[in-house]
Amino acid sequence: MSFYLSPHDGKALPEFLPGQYLTFQLQVPGQAKAVIRCYSLSDRPRQDYFRVTIKRLAAPPDAAGVAPGIGSSFFHDQVNEGDILDVKAPGGHFYMDPAGKGGVVLIGAGVGITPMLSMLHTIVAMQSRREVWLFYSVRNSDEHIMADILKTTARETPNVRIVVCYSQPHPHNVSGEHYDEAGRVSVDLFKRMLPSNNYDFYMCGPGGLMESLTRDLQGWGVPENRIHFETFGPSSVKKVGGLTQPPMALTTKFSVNFKKSGKVVDWTGASANLLELAEQAGVAIASGCRSGNCGTCVVAIKSGEIAYVQTPGSTPDPGTCLTCVCLPKGDVVLDA
Ligand SMILES: Cc1cc2nc3c(=O)[nH]c(=O)nc-3n(C[C@H](O)[C@H](O)[C@H](O)COP(=O)(O)OP(=O)(O)OC[C@H]3O[C@@H](n4cnc5c(N)ncnc54)[C@H](O)[C@@H]3O)c2cc1C
Repeated sequence: MSFYLSPHDGKALPEFLPGQYLTFQLQVPGQAKAVIRCYSLSDRPRQDYFRVTIKRLAAPPDAAGVAPGIGSSFFHDQVNEGDILDVKAPGGHFYMDPAGKGGVVLIGAGVGITPMLSMLHTIVAMQSRREVWLFYSVRNSDEHIMADILKTTARETPNVRIVVCYSQPHPHNVSGEHYDEAGRVSVDLFKRMLPSNNYDFYMCGPGGLMESLTRDLQGWGVPENRIHFETFGPSSVKKVGGLTQPPMALTTKFSVNFKKSGKVVDWTGASANLLELAEQAGVAIASGCRSGNCGTCVVAIKSGEIAYVQTPGSTPDPGTCLTCVCLPKGDVVLDA
């Protein structure tokens, strides 16, 4: 479901770059605290509205008694036209430079198509002659959103090619009509379809897929600085030989002093990040997206150094860290 947002005070909308996201602070009935969620802008930058496109997350089929996704259900079931929502200005380091000239390959898996739609619509609206390939990977027609708009865009824009991949097509899904390729998006498919590897690759989807595509693109000779990715959850993508790998063995033992709470605990590598360690120790740190994007879990570092397991989408102020995506590099004292 797509939501169109305009400023209730009538002021101009802040600018954004295609690929960036909004951070919402949602007042969800029944929740003690505001629920913080990030959603990518799914249309091109324009003056009249922001658009986000949200997939309703059901409870996992194998988890009895678990509630469906809080934020996405709130949007689908309770947000009505005219409601006012609290939103932070657009942010994030994952974006395409609209003024760029080179060809781009956009890869969206599932609801990860949303930032790609913004990039695609930006290039089309600018009447840029830039070569665009959009690979859109979904299970089948149940998940295939904006199919008609995408078909029309591909038909009417000579520099745009759209390739839809269905990993589990329904019997009534027709190859050539509903989808172009059976199977998942992969670098083998790019090798078959693209004239070369000389593109900037922008991709968004589940962490595992991003990880394998990143590795295979690098294996195909695509330089690291031409591979750009976003993930929508707390999954950490480690680039092969890249900057996002933690610089020390995860098993090294350090002391973490949560100064305000008066708790000192050992970092042994058993926790995924400092936020998780704090939660296990009973130290309360507010959190939101748990993927380094919303900035809620920021904590001041009183002494010591940390390392990021993935590049945060929002840049923390000097002397602070986003605990959901960082690890200690040695003994640290945190203001929490
Ligand atoms: C930068 C960024 C951009 C994003 N852009 C988009 C976008 O454009 N569109 C979009 O739809 N999403 C987007 N997301 C994802 C979005 O922010 C939310 O993560 C997503 O909507 C799920 O939030 P939720 O509150 O509905 O689910 P949550 O309440 O966070 O729950 C997630 C899932 O976990 C299950 N769950 C809850 N508790 C348990 C438990 N104890 N055991 C097992 N399972 C459990 C829930 O049933 C649900 O399936 C983006 C995320 C980021 C970081």
